Amino acid sequence: MLPELRFDNAFVRELPGDSETSPGPREVRGALHSSVAPLPVSAPRLIAHSAEMAESLGFSEIQANSREFADVFGGNALMDGMQTYATNYGGHQFGNWAGQLGDGRAISLGEVLNSAGQRWELQLKGAGPTPYSRRADGRAVLRSSVREFLCSEAMHHLGVPTTRALSLVATGDPVVRDMFYDGHPAAEKGAIVCRVAPSFIRFGNFELPSSRGENGVLNQLIDFTIRRDFPELQGKGEDLRADWFGEVCARTAVMVAHWMRVGFVHGVMNTDNMSILGLTIDYGPYGWIDNFDPEWTPNTTDRQHRRYRFGQQAQVAHWNLACLAQALAPVFGSIEPLQAGLQRYIDTWMAADRANIAAKLGMLECREEDLVLMQDLHGWMTAAEVDMTIFFRALSDLATAQRAPEMFAAAFYDDAKRQQMTPILQSWLSRYAVRLESDPQSAERRCERMRAVNPRYVLRNWLAQQAIDMADAGDESEIHALLDVMRHPYDDQPGRERFAQRRPDWARNKAGCSMLSCSS
Ligand code: AMP
Ligand code: MG
Repeated sequence: MLPELRFDNAFVRELPGDSETSPGPREVRGALHSSVAPLPVSAPRLIAHSAEMAESLGFSEIQANSREFADVFGGNALMDGMQTYATNYGGHQFGNWAGQLGDGRAISLGEVLNSAGQRWELQLKGAGPTPYSRRADGRAVLRSSVREFLCSEAMHHLGVPTTRALSLVATGDPVVRDMFYDGHPAAEKGAIVCRVAPSFIRFGNFELPSSRGENGVLNQLIDFTIRRDFPELQGKGEDLRADWFGEVCARTAVMVAHWMRVGFVHGVMNTDNMSILGLTIDYGPYGWIDNFDPEWTPNTTDRQHRRYRFGQQAQVAHWNLACLAQALAPVFGSIEPLQAGLQRYIDTWMAADRANIAAKLGMLECREEDLVLMQDLHGWMTAAEVDMTIFFRALSDLATAQRAPEMFAAAFYDDAKRQQMTPILQSWLSRYAVRLESDPQSAERRCERMRAVNPRYVLRNWLAQQAIDMADAGDESEIHALLDVMRHPYDDQPGRERFAQRRPDWARNKAGCSMLSCSS
């Protein structure tokens, strides 16, 4: 029933593995992966899948909806060529070195080479314990799995570099979680997401062997990563490594710039959650900006210091890259290339930030004065409590609609603030209009380009939570509806206005909508 996929399991073939095979959590030294099989579940059932991802892997729609598919992606069966393993990594969590972490509940199934020659690693999240599970159960609840599944695909369609999701499978087994770590554990529905990426290597994969002085392993991993994941990089020896680190820095900057463009807050930017490919990875307590607020984080675990707040993500990424640089230093001949890489991060970030300003405001280039224009707008948006997505979408239509400022009405969360802050918006719009006079684009062209970077639909926290609440009660239709809307986030989709609305009042302080913990 299922197709024959071509597997090329380079990670386990070429890199040192764990010689021990006994179950149970343990410290794994001198190895980058451990062989471990998914633990079967009671009743695997496909809830949803990404048609695009299934197709690019070589599954037909009939195959994706087959019983065999649910068995494989629920962890109850393997396809020919699959080899299952968990990888070993460490990480800096909330600024502190945490030692060995590893895939505690992610089990890779192998690397597929598809008909287009692309490499896609398949990885089950929530498939049972691994040697890296520490005291946890290796499982995932439906709520967090829905969020990871939907957001991976939504981000992809928004044009943000991200790991993908193939499937969301219900396990039929309960999973107990204390959602807010407040002594109220409860049984929830269990689920497994199959996520997909060319590589799941993280900064932490390099940090761990480095922290242990395992320079041989570290060297092997660096060479492997460059060879498999950065084939476009030419050159040799130290130059090649320098180019590679610079490329990692540049990609990370581009990724964070996309987050800032669409209003995405990762929530847990620990170095074990940073992909070497510059992909958004590990969708946990992430969130989307409703009312514009650089101070906001959805992660309740980070409530006190707000280390991973929206407006700080670019700085944190730099800090994380500095950790990576430090981990690489023992096997680099000198630290200059690492410093140059970190500088490349800063340069790429500045350029990407300017490109965002020009694109979001609809100008061909970002001039010095535009930095101030955007800064003032951000200040106003914060004070006026306006919805980021609705505001920029309305601004995109301004040039052709000529109905300002009433067209911004839907973006306000607070009526008093709307009245009070509208005159300031008007004066900002006058400055903006003057600036646009010296931009050579036609109004139509500007509108078209702005609409291609300012999405109409994002995976608002309350929308995902509604889909979760319904699925918990047995109705999974909203998961499918959201998956479908988010396939075309830049298009107006008549009849689907409700997915573009600002956060309703009931969601302001509701768990899952504005407050999320790491418990998943
Ligand atoms: P996260 O904060 O989700 O990135 O997870 C940090 C670390 O905890 C990773 O090593 C995860 O594999 C591990 N982890 C999180 N949840 C579980 C779980 N339910 N079972 C085993 N390991 C887990
Ligand atoms: Mg993680």
